[in-house]
Amino acid sequence: MSQPGPPGTPGTPGALAQPNQPGQRVRRALVVFGTRPEAIKLAPVILAMRSDPRFQPVVVTTGQHSELLAPILEIFAIAVDHDLGIGRHGQTLAGITCAALNGLDDLVARLRPDVVVVQGDTTSTFTGALAGFYHRVPVVHVEAGLRTGNKYSPFPEEVNRRLTTALTTLHLAPTTGNVANLVAEGVPRNAVVCTGNTVIDALRHVVALPLPGPTPVVAEVEASGARVVLVTVHRRESWGEPLSAVARALARLARAHPEVVVVVPAHPNPRVRASLSPALDGVPNVRVVEPLDYRSFVALLARAVLVLTDSGGIQEEAPSLGVPVLVLREVTERPEAVAAGTVEVVGTDEERIVERATDLLDPEKQWSRSDKFRRLVNPYGDGLAVPRTVAAIAHLLGDGPPADEFLASRADRSTAVDRSA
Ligand code: UDP
Repeated sequence: MSQPGPPGTPGTPGALAQPNQPGQRVRRALVVFGTRPEAIKLAPVILAMRSDPRFQPVVVTTGQHSELLAPILEIFAIAVDHDLGIGRHGQTLAGITCAALNGLDDLVARLRPDVVVVQGDTTSTFTGALAGFYHRVPVVHVEAGLRTGNKYSPFPEEVNRRLTTALTTLHLAPTTGNVANLVAEGVPRNAVVCTGNTVIDALRHVVALPLPGPTPVVAEVEASGARVVLVTVHRRESWGEPLSAVARALARLARAHPEVVVVVPAHPNPRVRASLSPALDGVPNVRVVEPLDYRSFVALLARAVLVLTDSGGIQEEAPSLGVPVLVLREVTERPEAVAAGTVEVVGTDEERIVERATDLLDPEKQWSRSDKFRRLVNPYGDGLAVPRTVAAIAHLLGDGPPADEFLASRADRSTAVDRSA
């Protein structure tokens, strides 16, 4: 993990500071991502850096999930500068790691960026941080400090996060709980900034855009006025029987609630689809569809009466849109919404899913929950994580004052760690 360096050495925000001079060179930031959630959460950071004269963002994708990236980049109007194109079906984790690291190492060596920016917990995140570290380029980790405490769940993301922390110079933590996790592991508090999650900035950006043509399933639910249950499942640790159990629970729910349409934008991974098909094929009010573009997905999310998901990003987005979430995992690294009562962890047990979803679909409870939801502050962000992120990176590079911090609520404020400590 990063330790405070002596003054003037990389390792502590502000330590790279040099006097601000007229004609000072623009800082080159290598922004690395490989999967859909990283692209969504870094897109508004790239846009903000693009319009900031202090930065030249260089956009790099490893291509880990190439087919899911293109629509995101299109929505945010972002061109990729370097695509390593490493994605292959059936690739092992070691194969992805080696290919991404080789490509990123070569790029960092050639481009000599001032900073490498990575996001989240994927193999692209970890290898981007490692490539920066090998070339002694300071690494900024966006969405730092999330932990489940179980190295096999989510797999391999929990370990990717911990390894990335060890390589990082500036840790941008979404919540005060994430800050506390890092400090508990020995990361100096002055190397951490609590920013909120950039996904809330992305969500706000996208909600304001027009829908890109009628996506059939969105058009169908809008025309019918059906109540939507939105489902996404893809985590590696659930492949096989856990996903089959989820599918059986969804089929039972759909049959018991003919007034509802269960929409499942299925991850392209064939193993995910193979687990879902036997139970869901032929159920009249279930729609298993291709992954939706982000704008259409957000439109469905906003309409949904209930979300069942093992996604991390959706646990953060749903509270902003007032939708209850059942998390199809045994453990979550996002306890803030559980504490706020908008998210409940139910795992992949068929009976438990049916029982909790049935309860939440009760129209009377739905109403009272909505009322409660309206009064909640989203613990994951206020839509200003991006300016804080850019300010914190500029400060790291000696080009601006320290960033302010995100304090979600009174409770958060009372537990916030003093940055000057
Ligand atoms: N998402 C999307 N289209 C879909 C399903 C999800 O745009 O069909 C978005 C969703 O809004 C969230 C992100 O993709 O921002 C979540 O991605 P994923 O579940 O792959 O990753 P995780 O959040 O678990 O890291």
